[in-house]
Amino acid sequence: MLKKRLKKHFGQHLLVAKGVIKKLVEFMEIKENDVVVEIGPGTGNLTEELFNTPLKRLYLIEIDEDMIRILKSRFNDRRLQIIHQDAGNFDFSKLGETSLKVVGNLPYNVASRILENVVNFNNLISSAFFMLQKEVAIRIEKEASWLSFFVRTFYEVKYLMSLPPKFFVPPPKVESGFIGLYRREENLKIDPKRLKELLKKVFSQRRKMLKHKVSEEVLLKAGISPTARAEELKVSDIIKLYYTS
Ligand code: SAH
Repeated sequence: MLKKRLKKHFGQHLLVAKGVIKKLVEFMEIKENDVVVEIGPGTGNLTEELFNTPLKRLYLIEIDEDMIRILKSRFNDRRLQIIHQDAGNFDFSKLGETSLKVVGNLPYNVASRILENVVNFNNLISSAFFMLQKEVAIRIEKEASWLSFFVRTFYEVKYLMSLPPKFFVPPPKVESGFIGLYRREENLKIDPKRLKELLKKVFSQRRKMLKHKVSEEVLLKAGISPTARAEELKVSDIIKLYYTS
C-alpha cells in the first residue's frame, strides 16, 4: 500500500530492518542534552529509534508533504519539531541551536548537495551520520575530489558499515554505506565558500600540474611542489594553501 506511494524522485527507500536501525543510532552515541536533526525521515523508522535515546530535542527536515502528514500522525512528543523544507538549502542557523548532531538516510540523487550544505554549517554541526550509496561513501572517505576534501577539511570521516539493498523498501539498485563525520577539534576559521572556490580550482583538470592552476609563488609558500598534481595533496596541504592564497 505505502510502497506504491513511495516517490522515486525523492529517493524514497525506507529502512525497514529494526536491528540495523538500532545499530546506526548506536554509532551516534546520543547523550542527554544532545540536539539531533534528522534529514529525510520519511515515514519515521529511524526517528522512532532516535526517541529511544536521551536526546533533548529532535528536528526533522523532510521535503515531501505526504511524509510530513505521516510523521505528524505517528509522533506526538514535546521534544519534536517537524520542518517541511529542502535539506539541500536549509539554513541550520534558523534553529537557534549551537551544537547539532545530524543524521540521515539520504536520497542518493541529492546527497552531495545535502552534504555540502551540512559542511557549510560546520560551526553548528559537531557530527553527522549519513547513509549514502556505498561507492559515494567510500569516495567521501578517501578520494581526491573537491567534495571529499571539502568535507575532510572540517571533519574526520569514518566509514562505519555497509548495507545490502535488502534492508530497504524498495531495495535500491546499489549497496549502501554508512559514514560518520566527526568535527575536528581545531577552530580553523575557514570560510566554506572560499574553500570551495579554492578546491574547485585545484581539482579542475586533474592531470594538470598545480602550477597551471595556482601561482607558483603561493604553492611554494605553502610548501607544495608546483609540479605536483591534485591527487597527491593531503588535507593539511589544502589548509596551508587556503591560508597562503
Ligand atoms: N529515513 C527514512 C527515509 C529515507 S528515504 C528511512 O530510513 O526509512 C529518503 C527521504 O528523504 C524521503 O523521505 C524523501 O522524501 C526525503 N527527501 C528527499 N529529498 C529531500 C530533500 N532535498 N530534503 C529533505 N528531505 C528529502
